[in-house]
Amino acid sequence: MSVTHRLTAPAPGWTATADVVVVGSGVAGLTVALNVRKAGLRAMVVTKAMLDEGSTRWAQGGIAAALGEGDTPEQHLDDTLVAGAGLCDEDAVRTLVTEGPDAVRRLIGVGALFDRDEAGEILLTREGGHHRRRIAHAGGDATGAEISRALVAAVRNDPGIELIEHALVLDLLTDAEGHAAGLTLHVMGEGQRDGVGAVRARAVVLATGGMGQVFSATTNPAVSTGDGVALALRAGAAVTDLEFVQFHPTVLWLGPDAEGQQPLVSEAVRGEGAHLVDADGVRFMVGQHELAELAPRDIVAKAITRRIQEQGAEHMFLDGRHFGAEMWAHRFPTILASCRAHGIDPVTAPIPVAPAAHYASGGVRTDRHGRTSVPGLYACGEVACTGVHGANRLASNSLLEGLVFAERIAADLAKRHRAGDLPERTVDVAAARAAQPVPLPPSEARAEIQRLMSRGAGVLRSAASMADTATGLALIAEQAYAHVAEEKPADPRVETWEAANLLLVATALVAAAAQREETRGCHWREDFPERDDAHWRRHLITTLTASGDPVSTPEEQ
Ligand SMILES: Cc1cc2nc3c(=O)[nH]c(=O)nc-3n(C[C@H](O)[C@H](O)[C@H](O)COP(=O)(O)OP(=O)(O)OC[C@H]3O[C@@H](n4cnc5c(N)ncnc54)[C@H](O)[C@@H]3O)c2cc1C
Repeated sequence: MSVTHRLTAPAPGWTATADVVVVGSGVAGLTVALNVRKAGLRAMVVTKAMLDEGSTRWAQGGIAAALGEGDTPEQHLDDTLVAGAGLCDEDAVRTLVTEGPDAVRRLIGVGALFDRDEAGEILLTREGGHHRRRIAHAGGDATGAEISRALVAAVRNDPGIELIEHALVLDLLTDAEGHAAGLTLHVMGEGQRDGVGAVRARAVVLATGGMGQVFSATTNPAVSTGDGVALALRAGAAVTDLEFVQFHPTVLWLGPDAEGQQPLVSEAVRGEGAHLVDADGVRFMVGQHELAELAPRDIVAKAITRRIQEQGAEHMFLDGRHFGAEMWAHRFPTILASCRAHGIDPVTAPIPVAPAAHYASGGVRTDRHGRTSVPGLYACGEVACTGVHGANRLASNSLLEGLVFAERIAADLAKRHRAGDLPERTVDVAAARAAQPVPLPPSEARAEIQRLMSRGAGVLRSAASMADTATGLALIAEQAYAHVAEEKPADPRVETWEAANLLLVATALVAAAAQREETRGCHWREDFPERDDAHWRRHLITTLTASGDPVSTPEEQ
């Protein structure tokens, strides 16, 4: 299969080569790069902004692994399967939880410093849905920043890894057999590698992170625009579970008009005993779930949203005043600073919180070696759907997924390399030119897409709300086509390429969410409030039609 659609862009003006090109520099991408090096392969990491600008460095709570006394991978598996609400791939989860503890130890070997007690044992906390303390953390609530620091230092020290920052990857290139052979990208640089170019490689790994920016309010940074999922769809790859977007229940509420990335108040704050209270100071999670405030995220997000509606409020409160000043400063320094920067002191006042888009449980479908349905194209981390999260991710399983499956991708590439199954590839230039160019929406479309998505396809969804969103998205696409017909197309540049990716991902997400007529995990339909195992205990697989429209097909049962 070759790439059927591509973003409208100038032809590549320069070419570079690598054995393996990795797109993205979060926990997933950097772990792949470090590990393929061990197999003697040359890696190139291409990343949209600076190396540390993905979600990884924002992760607060920690990384889940059965490291504690009495804990076992089997118990971690059980908690993960419960959160995934019947849609986890049990084999993938087993791989995650059994390989996880050693993967964390290897991360420590790379240089990541986790918080430890006086005896030197790794400190473990609890988060929603976990029946044990199994979340390792660093710098109190700065786990992702520490992981990112350690991995960035390691890749910078490895002369066999080439790093290209400020480079937006556009589309996949394939050879005559349809095997991944490289990619096109736009480098915002100077000198020889400026503007649109091509990287030729024996294999391509997508590690582009999430898609939170399709919604108005999200915890994800500005780079999380779903580019990897959009690229994979245009390349003919199968994408799955897009409708399962996790909304984090406790995001600092910054006012009714706040847009873009919003500060997270980690689940670990509830894990340490903070209470969710309503406008009357009532702990409304007690009696709703055996774990109360530590119920799985979808349950807490729904309960908050319901209470907000019942009370006609704009937010709920998270009360951690009983921690005292010292614990706030020591255990949650990042959250304390971010609340205070917005005029709230959690030591003396409850924190206003509301749900916001946080994590994409779905993504580019892979097997347990990270292989997508396009030969030679791998996906890893939040952009991928390995099957471990099902209909809802268990807290702190995502950093672990990035680590474990990155190592597995590197192992698969190493094995192929040893077997002579990773030859140099020749790009099929004619096929690349024949791919249909996707018209670009104007950069202002980003805000409109976000508004449409939050209004109709957010925490609360119904057929009517999603039909409105789908109509609005279709109008943006039609206008982009009309502007091309009128010879007034939007300029190809970062903002318009990102808008095109957001539009494609949003359209695919709404199509899948509208089709899934049930409530399951983090997909909550007001018009179908029950889980319907008879019809829907299965995945929706999304691909592009010949005309470039996403279509979702239920997997055979
Ligand atoms: C606020 C917050 C808190 C979180 N807390 C936790 C937690 O406590 N525990 C946990 O397990 N998970 C947590 N998560 C989720 C976790 O951080 C992410 O799922 C994980 O870090 C994703 O890693 P990644 O490597 O897949 O992607 P990212 O770290 O997001 O990296 C993606 C990379 O791809 C690059 N990129 C994107 N598009 C392109 C393109 N077109 N061209 C080139 N480069 C591109 C980006 O610039 C970036 O470098 C949290 C997430 C957020 C936002």
